[in-house]
Amino acid sequence: MSLFSRVEQAPPDAILGLTEQFKADTNPRKVNLGVGVYQDATGKLPLLRCVAAAEQRLAATPTAKGYLAIDGIPTYGREVKELVFGADSPLLEQGRVVTAQALGGTGALKLGADLMRQVTPDATVLISTPSWENHLALFTRAGFTVEKYRYYDAARKGVDVDGMIEDLRAAAPGTIVVLHACCHNPTGYDLAPADWQRVIDAVVEGGLTAFLDMAYQGFSQGIEEDGAVVRAFAERVPSFLVSTSFSKSFSLYGERVGALSVVCSDAAEAARVLSQLKIVIRTNYSNPPTHGAALVETVLEDPELRAQWVAELGEMRDRIKAMRTKLVDGLAAAGVEGMGYITDQVGMFSFSGLTKEQMQRLRAEYAVYGTDTGRICVAALNDDNVAYVSESIAAVLQ
Ligand code: PMP
Repeated sequence: MSLFSRVEQAPPDAILGLTEQFKADTNPRKVNLGVGVYQDATGKLPLLRCVAAAEQRLAATPTAKGYLAIDGIPTYGREVKELVFGADSPLLEQGRVVTAQALGGTGALKLGADLMRQVTPDATVLISTPSWENHLALFTRAGFTVEKYRYYDAARKGVDVDGMIEDLRAAAPGTIVVLHACCHNPTGYDLAPADWQRVIDAVVEGGLTAFLDMAYQGFSQGIEEDGAVVRAFAERVPSFLVSTSFSKSFSLYGERVGALSVVCSDAAEAARVLSQLKIVIRTNYSNPPTHGAALVETVLEDPELRAQWVAELGEMRDRIKAMRTKLVDGLAAAGVEGMGYITDQVGMFSFSGLTKEQMQRLRAEYAVYGTDTGRICVAALNDDNVAYVSESIAAVLQ
């Protein structure tokens, strides 16, 4: 018997499996709304102009490829802190935030999970119902028991805030609560500022550990506006974690650029936490890769490129909003009323409200690919496909 003969076949990744199916589909009108990637008005993955300019600058002054520090490029870390907490945050001045460069948002979540396994090994992790699929898998693999708090209210098309608060209030002290800072994946429904205060009340009064997953800063209202959630926590919660991803906001998916920030109660504690976080990193991949973070650092450190980034991020955000409106208009034109909630949602995704059967018909009969949960990526809609997608949805709703 061979060493691996008993290894079971794992199921394929649901979303990547959809992409494979999409690639093999011969329907010329096929549309992939499965994967969470922003596409421009021509249906292409954009290379942001600010990133292209940063690439040129870096290429003009080639440097030797040494190891980075375990926690990454220092100026990159500072820029991340300022983006996430605000440049004038007292936390930064007090030296209370530890930030380590990470392999995308996923890498940041895993660093945080591994760190928390050391700090509170017996804690339960709570994630939203539903949540990004990898939250469950990642925290489970890190050794935690993962449970869920209520979030999506299917009947009212929004957040079940009372249910969510009730579940957070019932959680034991030390429970790690994973919260989508903005652009909730997969529903597209975020909490209002007053709801966030109720969440913060529950976190503070219940002694919970908040882990804010910020994968889409700038995709809801703007960089500052979306960061307000983190600042609201900073004002009232002595310690919490934030994962950052630049995959979407810089369209740097494959470069794996992100960061984990840990808010500590004072600078001495922050130094100790950093020392432990470095061990987590060192024993996983030793130190992070240079290029993606160097691109982000170059853009954020240069006023002109930074302004360009802010504008380009705004263009992406506005295009998604425009596509939401066009989808609702297209649906209305095809005879489907009552789906106006699509424009209430924010970010790259829409929970369309379609059933699994309807999503499967959409794929099989119209080659429009979304997930069985009814999630569609509105950031993959454009003027050439939105009418067809609207008509196809209308057809399966009949
Ligand atoms: N968190 C959420 C909520 C996400 O939607 C994603 C990306 N789909 C991530 C984290 C991971 O981001 P990255 O691709 O940078 O690893």
